[in-house]
Amino acid sequence: MKELFETTPSPLVPPLRSKGELFDAACVAVGKNPNDFNAEVHFVTSDEIRALNKKWRGKDEPTDVLSFPLGDFNPATGKTELGDIVICRECAGEFSEEFLYLHGLLHLMGYTHKEMDAIIKEAMQSVVARNTFGRLSAGSAIQEEIE
Ligand SMILES: [Zn+2]
Repeated sequence: MKELFETTPSPLVPPLRSKGELFDAACVAVGKNPNDFNAEVHFVTSDEIRALNKKWRGKDEPTDVLSFPLGDFNPATGKTELGDIVICRECAGEFSEEFLYLHGLLHLMGYTHKEMDAIIKEAMQSVVARNTFGRLSAGSAIQEEIE
């Protein structure tokens, strides 16, 4: 069934790390504190996403990403549960998982397609920058130890 977070490597950012980083970056890009929110992501097959698309949207066809907004405050965690993002890798086509994840996440936050393009770009860029700088500083630290 669901193969949670067991993703194939992406050329953009390492997938397991990227989920948290993308989430944080998206929250920051829209002026929210990442610590106040949570969102679930599920990876499913094309049959599974087709069934969900039919049940909830009346569209009997597979799609790349679906989002199911919740918006409930969870007193146990102190976070607002934004809802669920469902991604079908087989249906992703040219889109990266990172893009689909952010797309779904921003829908959960109530953003329209028109609004989300710039936010996705900003979030992606900040994650890439952080990974690049992280690698550079780790490299220079090792260099210093050798010298
Ligand atoms: Zn959409």
